[in-house]
Amino acid sequence: GGPLDTTDPEVAAMLCDELVRQQDGIELIASENLASFAVMEAQGSVLTNKYAEGLPGKRYYGGCVDVDRVETLAIERVKRIFGAAFANVQPHSGANANQAAFMALGKPGDVILGLSLAAGGHLTHGAAPNYSGKWFRSVQYGVHPDTGLLNYEEAERLAREHRPRIIVAGSSAYPRVIDFARFRKIADEVGAYLMVDMAHFAGLVAAGLYPNPLPHAHIVTSTTHKTLRGPRGGIILTNDADLAKKVNAAVFPGLQGGPLMHVIAAKAVAFGEALQPSYASYQRAVVANAAALADELLGRGFDIVTGGTDSHLVLVDLRPKKVTGKVADAALERAGITVNKNAVPDDPESPFVTSGVRLGSPAATARGFGTAEFREIGRFIDEVLSAHGTPAAEDVEKRVKGEVQALCRRFPIYNVAYP
Ligand code: PLP
Repeated sequence: GGPLDTTDPEVAAMLCDELVRQQDGIELIASENLASFAVMEAQGSVLTNKYAEGLPGKRYYGGCVDVDRVETLAIERVKRIFGAAFANVQPHSGANANQAAFMALGKPGDVILGLSLAAGGHLTHGAAPNYSGKWFRSVQYGVHPDTGLLNYEEAERLAREHRPRIIVAGSSAYPRVIDFARFRKIADEVGAYLMVDMAHFAGLVAAGLYPNPLPHAHIVTSTTHKTLRGPRGGIILTNDADLAKKVNAAVFPGLQGGPLMHVIAAKAVAFGEALQPSYASYQRAVVANAAALADELLGRGFDIVTGGTDSHLVLVDLRPKKVTGKVADAALERAGITVNKNAVPDDPESPFVTSGVRLGSPAATARGFGTAEFREIGRFIDEVLSAHGTPAAEDVEKRVKGEVQALCRRFPIYNVAYP
């Protein structure tokens, strides 16, 4: 019934369909979450209209008095959350934040050492098709194929051999705690900068449930929309005043033009939420729910990479169940459960097929699911994948879809009531 319905019913209908999809399905994509209504309201505000190149108090445009207050508040809050001395809240995304961090720390042609995509690293950590793999001389470490645990020894050996300018720690599909002190030791030994990309687990760090990389890293980058539960965007943190200047210059004018002030307002709101006591209980539930899901799947004969999780995500090796990641992804989608296919250590399948799926608890926890519901999810996943390739598959997918919908209707998102 808002202006969008009358101005553009075509787009309004698409958004409505997406609300129904989110409402009626179980969201297990580990990098997704449900931002609060308040975050979305700030993001849909009049700040959409404002140009504010520069930083608070040092802008290239007039009329910045209010957006200066908003950006300053976002900076102060995020510094308080992570115990950082300096913060830049302008990166449009996690990928942009990483690019700005690279620009602050090095130059094209430098050697960078990051976790390989196949082992759970992000594209921007030096993968071949990404600028980070094209503009730098990228060297990549991995995980132990037998345990799935980070191969610190390999990182150390490659660091000694290639003398990188920047070592990147952090990942998109690693379920365990990362030893930042160990990475810093390696960096110091070879004279490299340590950059930690905490995009996936930033919300857990904010709640004190995952080690804070700030004391160890020269620069920390993050997205704001994953476990952190804010709007889509990026941040860069550091405790080093000289690096802070370089980071600010790299973001603007180095890489970006005008900051997205409406998104920065939404970041301020999300950071305010992260400073509330209820946020820590949410993040504790995120971790407990991921652990319950991993335990349920283990009990049902799935292989869990690293044997479990310390975080919000679970990496499932599907080979014991004789299905590929691609097949599992599609079958679960038909049953109302959204996941993503993901390579497992030493995966024999191509990246388009894979032998695993990555599951995450942040979004379903945000709608109120607890460990009982996550154990139910484990049952749904087992039933759908065990039936795959049998004559019963279609019926099982339909039945589970009904159960998924019934469960979701007990936990409506955004308090949108069902008709
Ligand atoms: N860094 C990590 C570790 C990620 O997992 C991701 C996204 O999945 C990014 C960076 C990129 O963030 P964005 O999609 O906002 O560019």
